[in-house]
Amino acid sequence: MNPEPVNRELVNPELRLPLDRRIGKRSASVITKHLGLETVGELLDYFPRRYLTRGELTPIAKLPLDEEATLVARVISNSTRQMRARRGSLTDVVVTDDAGGNLAVPGTPGTLKISFFNGFRARSELQPGRRAMFSGKVSRYGGALSMTNPDFMLLDEDPDAAGSMDPEKLAAMPIPVYPATAKLTSWSIHKVITTLLDTIDLDRIEDPLPAAITDREGFADIGRCYQLIHSPETAIDWKHARDRFRYQEALVLQAALARRRVQLASEEATARRPAPEGLLAAFDRQLPFTLTAGQAAVGKTLSQELAQNSPMNRLLQGEVGSGKTIVALRAMLQVVDAGGQAALLAPTEVLAAQHYESIRRTLGPLARDGMFGGAGMLGQESGTASVQVTLLTGSMPAAARKQAMLDAASGNAGIVIGTHALLSDKTTFQDLGLIVVDEQHRFGVEQRDALRAKAQRPPHLLVMTATPIPRTVAMTVFGDLETSVLDELPAGRAPISTHLVGLAENPGWATRIWARSREEIDAGHQVYVVCPKIGTDDDGDFTPGEGEHGGDEPDPLAEDGPARELASVTAVVEGLRQEDALRGVRIEALHGRQDPVLKSETMASFVANQTQVLVSTTVIEVGVDVHNATLMVILDADRFGISQLHQLRGRVGRGGLPGTCLLVTSLEPGHPSRRRLDAVAATTDGFELSQEDLKLRREGDILGASQSGGRSTLKLLRVLEHGDVIERARSDAQQLVAEDPELRRHEPLAAAIDEYLNPEKEAFLERG
Ligand code: ADP
Ligand code: MG
Repeated sequence: MNPEPVNRELVNPELRLPLDRRIGKRSASVITKHLGLETVGELLDYFPRRYLTRGELTPIAKLPLDEEATLVARVISNSTRQMRARRGSLTDVVVTDDAGGNLAVPGTPGTLKISFFNGFRARSELQPGRRAMFSGKVSRYGGALSMTNPDFMLLDEDPDAAGSMDPEKLAAMPIPVYPATAKLTSWSIHKVITTLLDTIDLDRIEDPLPAAITDREGFADIGRCYQLIHSPETAIDWKHARDRFRYQEALVLQAALARRRVQLASEEATARRPAPEGLLAAFDRQLPFTLTAGQAAVGKTLSQELAQNSPMNRLLQGEVGSGKTIVALRAMLQVVDAGGQAALLAPTEVLAAQHYESIRRTLGPLARDGMFGGAGMLGQESGTASVQVTLLTGSMPAAARKQAMLDAASGNAGIVIGTHALLSDKTTFQDLGLIVVDEQHRFGVEQRDALRAKAQRPPHLLVMTATPIPRTVAMTVFGDLETSVLDELPAGRAPISTHLVGLAENPGWATRIWARSREEIDAGHQVYVVCPKIGTDDDGDFTPGEGEHGGDEPDPLAEDGPARELASVTAVVEGLRQEDALRGVRIEALHGRQDPVLKSETMASFVANQTQVLVSTTVIEVGVDVHNATLMVILDADRFGISQLHQLRGRVGRGGLPGTCLLVTSLEPGHPSRRRLDAVAATTDGFELSQEDLKLRREGDILGASQSGGRSTLKLLRVLEHGDVIERARSDAQQLVAEDPELRRHEPLAAAIDEYLNPEKEAFLERG
C-alpha cells in the first residue's frame, strides 16, 4: 500500500543500532529478554509510565492489586522471627504512606505489610524511618494489604541522586517508574537507560517533527527530550518531553493516514453516474416513507462521489436505527444502474441473511431471484428494471454457494450480500463497483483491503459503523476515510425506555419480568431475551466469526470476583417453557453454535411472529430488524459492554411501537459493573454512550488489533483526552502530505511512519 518508501535505513542509523553496541552485552540481553527491545531507538522509546518523587509517599490504597507496582514508602516497623515449619527467618516490614495511622497493625489504612523470607538485607537496611522504593505485587488478605519479597532501593542513600544536590531539590526530583516485570525492576531499567543516554550522541538524532512544528509548539529538540523524559530534574521537564513525544505520536499516525488518503484518492476508479430512469429512480418512487433530511443529504454526497473516477472512501456513522441500510442500498442501486456490481459485507450470518431478506423485500418487484434471471441482465444494460440479489455465506449448502459464486463471477448478481465468505479467494466478481461494509466494528483495515483487491479497478467503499463514535476516535481508527453522520432517527420512531432491574434489591422482579412479557405478547407483540451464555456448562459464549461476544468488549469476568451462575440460553428456554405467565407462548432459542439451517428457520419464524419469545445470545446484537418486537430483556446485563447493550436495545422500538428494554442484574447496587448499566439506562444518545464506554474501557481496546489492522497501540496518546493534539496533528499532517505527498523533504518523518506501519505489514504477510 505504500509508495516507493524513503530509504529509512539511512535515517537515524544510531537509533537502529542493536543495543549491545551501546550498553554492553549483558544489559542488552537482559533488556531484550524481559522487555523484548532490541535497538537503541526501541529502548529510548520505552517511556516511564509515571513518576514518583522521593519526598512524596505513594498512596497505598490506590495501588493496583496483583500486578507489578512500584511505590515510595516510609518504614514504621521491622521485626524478624524464625520460622517453625521450615528453616529460615521471616522479616516483616510495615510501611506507610502517612495517609492513615502510623500503627504497624495489619489493616491500618495507608499501611502495607511486606514480608521477606531470609531477608537479611531488609532486616538490616529497612529500619523505621527509612524511605525506600519497593517493586512487587500487592495482594489483599482480608482487609490488609501485603507484599512478599519485593525488590527495594533505599532512597536516602541513592548514590546517583545524593551527592551535592540540595535536599529540597532532591525531594522534588521525579523518579521515573517504568512498566516493570517481576525480574526487572523499574530502577534497573532506569539505570540501563541512563547508561544509554550517556553513551549515545543525542544531538545527532534526526527529528521526525519538522522544524516549523517544533518552533510553533516550542518543543525542545528530540535528544534533549529523551533526556528529560528519562532523567528529569523537575516535573516540568518530563511534562514537556511527554507533550512533545505525544505530539510526535499523533503526527506520525495522522501523516500515515493522510498519506493513505492521498494514495487512495489518486487511484483511478470507474465513475458510476446516476441514470435518470434507472432502478434507483424506480426505487425512490416506490419507497413507502420519505427519507430523513440526513439520509437525503448523505445520499447526495454518496451519489456525487460514486460519479467520480476517483474512489469514494467514506465512513457512515449512524445512530442505531437511523436507517443506514436504505442509504447504502440507494448507493448500490446507482452502481448497478451504471452497470457495476455491489457487495454488502455483514459481520454475522444472521445479519447477512436478514439483510438479504429485507433488501429483497424493500426492493419488491425490482429484485429478481437468482434461479430465474438470465445472463447479462444488469439493470440498465439489458433494459430490464430489476436486479438480482444474491446471498453468499460460508454455511450455505455447497450447491447454492457454488451458484452464488457463479452469479457473482458472471455479473448476473448485481448485489451480493455475504459474510467473510465474500473475502475468500474463490469469490470473484465480474465488475465490482462498490463495497459496503456494514457494522464496521468487526472488520479491520486488512479485510477492507482484501475486498478491494477483488475489483479490477479500485472500487468505491462505504463503511458503516454500528454505533456512532467520538470524532477523535473516528479520526484515529478510521482516519483514512471521510466521514458522514446520520444523527436523526426517522420521524414517528417511538422512544425506547430503559429500566435497570436490580434483582438484589427487588427479588420479586424475577417473576414480574415474565408477566410483563406476557402483556406485550397479549398485545400482539414480541419479546427478545438475551443471555450471556449458550449452555450451563460453558463459561462464555464465544463463537469466532459469528460476532458473539466480540473481542471489543471489556472482560467482565475480570472484575467480578467469585463466579456466579449466569443465565444461559438453554436453561432460560427450558425455564420459560415452564413459566406460568408464558403458557401457550412459543419460545425458541437462537445462538451461534446451532446449525445454520436451524438458525435461519428460527429467525424466519420470529420474523413471521410464529415465535413470540426469542431467547438468544448476542447473535442478534447488530442489525436485526423485527418491527413487531417491543420488549428486550437482557439477563445478567452487567456481563455486556456499553455499546453491546446500546445495540441490543436498538432491536426494539423499530416499527413505530414504543420499545422497552429491561437490564436485569443480580449485582448489588453500587457494584462498579453496574456503572455501565446506569449509563445505558440514562441516555439513548449513542455518541454520549460511546464516550462513556471508551472512558470505562482499557485504552488498548480502542485501537485493538481488529480495528487498527494490527498496528501497535498508542503509547502516550489517549484518543478521548487528547482530542486537541489529534486535531492539530491531523491538520499539520494534511498540509505536509499535500505539499509533499511522499514526504521526501521530511525523511525522518517518513521513516517513522514506515516504522510505525511495520507491524501491519507483517500482519499482512502472515495472512497471505
Ligand atoms: P440502522 O441504521 O440501525 O442500520 P436500519 O437501516 O436497519 O437502521 O433502519 C431501521 C428501520 O428504519 C428499518 O426498518 C428501515 O426500513 C426504517 N427506515 C429507514 N429509513 C426510514 C425513514 N426515512 N422513514 C421511516 N422508516 C425508515
Ligand atoms: Mg444496520
